[in-house]
Amino acid sequence: ELADLFAVSRTTAINAYRKLEQQGLVWTKVGSGTYVAQARDLESLSEVPWPQLFTAYPQNPLASILRDLVSTNAPGTISLAAGMPDPALYPLETFTELFNHNIGTVPPADFGHIPTEGYYPLRRAIAAMLSEKGIPASTENILTLSGSQQGIYLLSKVLLEPGDYVVMETPTFIGAIQVFQAAGARILSLPYSEKFSIELLEDFLIRYRPKLLYIIPTYQNPTGRVMPEQERKDLVKLAKRHRLVIVEDDPYSDLCYGEQPPQALKAMDSYGGVVYLGTFSKILFPGLRTGYLAGPPVLINRLALEKQFIDLHSSNIAQWLVTMFLNEGKLAEHLTKVRREYKKRRDTMAKALLRLCVKDIDFKVPEGGFYFWCKLKQAGTSQQLLQAAAKNRISFVPSEAFHTMPTPDNEFRLCFTTHNETVLLESVQRLAKTLTQITKK
Ligand code: PMP
Repeated sequence: ELADLFAVSRTTAINAYRKLEQQGLVWTKVGSGTYVAQARDLESLSEVPWPQLFTAYPQNPLASILRDLVSTNAPGTISLAAGMPDPALYPLETFTELFNHNIGTVPPADFGHIPTEGYYPLRRAIAAMLSEKGIPASTENILTLSGSQQGIYLLSKVLLEPGDYVVMETPTFIGAIQVFQAAGARILSLPYSEKFSIELLEDFLIRYRPKLLYIIPTYQNPTGRVMPEQERKDLVKLAKRHRLVIVEDDPYSDLCYGEQPPQALKAMDSYGGVVYLGTFSKILFPGLRTGYLAGPPVLINRLALEKQFIDLHSSNIAQWLVTMFLNEGKLAEHLTKVRREYKKRRDTMAKALLRLCVKDIDFKVPEGGFYFWCKLKQAGTSQQLLQAAAKNRISFVPSEAFHTMPTPDNEFRLCFTTHNETVLLESVQRLAKTLTQITKK
């Protein structure tokens, strides 16, 4: 009625009602109307109406899928859902030794505030590590992060306005989808589990001028796929022609169980457009919350300004520990150990899936990383499979969580690194039992 009376837009009127309600001056009864508050209503209004104070948040169906997954696990459930390294393999002894041995010699000032760009010795060590991998980088190209997730968020803050276009392969990392959606970006979906479609990307570039492409070229999450060298070259060439920013997310490339993967896109970057994200979450442990971003100094500076608003800088203690780990050559040792162990687990899982589940699912054996990506052969969705699996106390992530557009939900992701071989075998038996139960129906 307000809108009719004063010829204001409906949104303005709704906002006016919201403001009045926030101040407790009116109250609303759903299906009835909005009423002016009486003196006694005002007195009884003792609690802060939190939800009414929140800023608008984009509806995000993915958020609830993950929450449900975590919250509904019955006791004794084996979860192959989270992408986690095995806690039994965290190099905590080495960290303890490094800590005890060096805590007396570190200048106390190193534990005060440091520049937002990161702990200088760590930035230097990361630059050296990347250079060894063929990614030319010096200290000013590196921003340390509280996990690479923070890098995705910071990039969205400095590069994206609501309505901007972002290209994403689909399926892809759920954490990136959520950040870009929350930034109000419009997602252009590039279906990619077998072959990269350079033609479709070119079409997107010409028609929509997207701000960036987000991609996980090596041991992709969730598919485990490795982008072949030629596809990488073609992609970088096209991106250069269109001056497209590529965000290359690379948490898994060190976890290789066979042939070395091709070089990173960043190693092929001759136009300064590839931004590289790395993390210690998968190769060491996620609680370190230490990741990094490599890019041109102009971008690092802008991102650091934005990061300053969030946390001033990432934890010095974690950065100092990781620096020692790198400088004392412990990472190479640790990687040899976890690669050997994860390769065994992958092989055990592959054999068990082949023996017990192959009549019901298709899958490829991943050459590295954390995941098996499986496809149901028969009708039915992986959500339905998950519900049945919960009764057999096994869980995983159904494909709909990873897609940027409506896609048949007949695939699912199994993480094989978190549990030892005995538990993995048990998990495949439970999965096989579930598959048999649902095919009989
Ligand atoms: N990117 C990808 C592809 C991931 O799989 C993950 C972790 N699941 C992240 C980023 C976030 O990792 P971090 O712990 O470094 O924030």
